[in-house]
Amino acid sequence: MECVFCKIINKELPAYIVYEDEDTMAFLDINPVSKGHLLVVPKKHYSRLSEIPQEELKRFFQGLQNVVKMVESNLSKHYNIVVNQGELAGQVINHLHFHIIPRYGNEQIFIWLTHKLSKEEAQEVLEKLGKNLIV
Ligand code: 5GP
Ligand code: ZN
Repeated sequence: MECVFCKIINKELPAYIVYEDEDTMAFLDINPVSKGHLLVVPKKHYSRLSEIPQEELKRFFQGLQNVVKMVESNLSKHYNIVVNQGELAGQVINHLHFHIIPRYGNEQIFIWLTHKLSKEEAQEVLEKLGKNLIV
């Protein structure tokens, strides 16, 4: 099996595991952005959120919520949850994972460069999504 996270899940590779239930595991990211940066993964291999059957997704999210509660109680009530999907979005590991990045107030991360949404842009996107523009 090639997948690094599957190897961690199968205990073939070491990791600092902080949470485990039947469907979900969480461990420390090997290159943390902040103290307590965690990766929460479904134990079954899926590359994308869109691939998980709904029943499994429900159980995975219960585990994710348990981890989030641990983080809120013990690390920080402020955190980012990030999911990179696809190469262009920065997904390097092909096993779906939710980054939980605790924030303590001194991190210089996640600076989003934005622009004001125009009606034309909204229209274009809504058309692509098959929705009518109601303004
Ligand atoms: P991605 O860019 O795919 O969203 O994130 C992959 C994450 O996995 C990165 O933050 C990287 O530091 C982490 N990572 C890569 N290999 C390992 C590993 O072997 N062990 C652990 N604990 N984290 C890893
Ligand atoms: Zn995997």
